[in-house]
Amino acid sequence: MSTPPHTSAAPISTESSTVTDRLVKANTQYAAGFTDPGMDARPVLHVAVVACMDARLDLHAALGLELGDCHTIRNAGGVVTDDVIRSLTISQRALGTRSVMLVHHTNCGLESLTEDFRHELEDEVGQRPAWAVEAFRDVDQDVRQSMQRVRTSPFLLHTEDVRGFVFDVTTGLLREIDPATAAE
Ligand SMILES: [Zn+2]
Repeated sequence: MSTPPHTSAAPISTESSTVTDRLVKANTQYAAGFTDPGMDARPVLHVAVVACMDARLDLHAALGLELGDCHTIRNAGGVVTDDVIRSLTISQRALGTRSVMLVHHTNCGLESLTEDFRHELEDEVGQRPAWAVEAFRDVDQDVRQSMQRVRTSPFLLHTEDVRGFVFDVTTGLLREIDPATAAE
């Protein structure tokens, strides 16, 4: 591949600077090579992707997405919470998306947690969080539950094209989850 245009720039150092300093520095290099793509805020592919925040999941690379193609909504687990419904509602009603793709993954951190996490938090800080941990044991069932929450939301305009997948962090492959197969 071609040589990056910034080879003369000082290497990004983590010594005596925070990780955020490093990211800000990287941004100056990014901006130096950036040209305004002149894009509209409406995603080109009219799709919103809801995914886990997992660091091993590079959504754009894994799904062949380009800048401007989609909305990406991420949280711990890729769980469809009220706030995800909020984002999807804005995505569909204000910014024209029509399809929803859910991406959970193998080896998710939520598989090793339970709702005890909340109780332990309460013991430690004296206040119980209002949110559920949304821990799970069966990733397929968790995807089905997320699909169901999207499909049954009264706020969304488009619930016909809602599909759910599990991304394998060791192979990079997606496996589609059949919404009709209930786990026993
Ligand atoms: Zn995860």
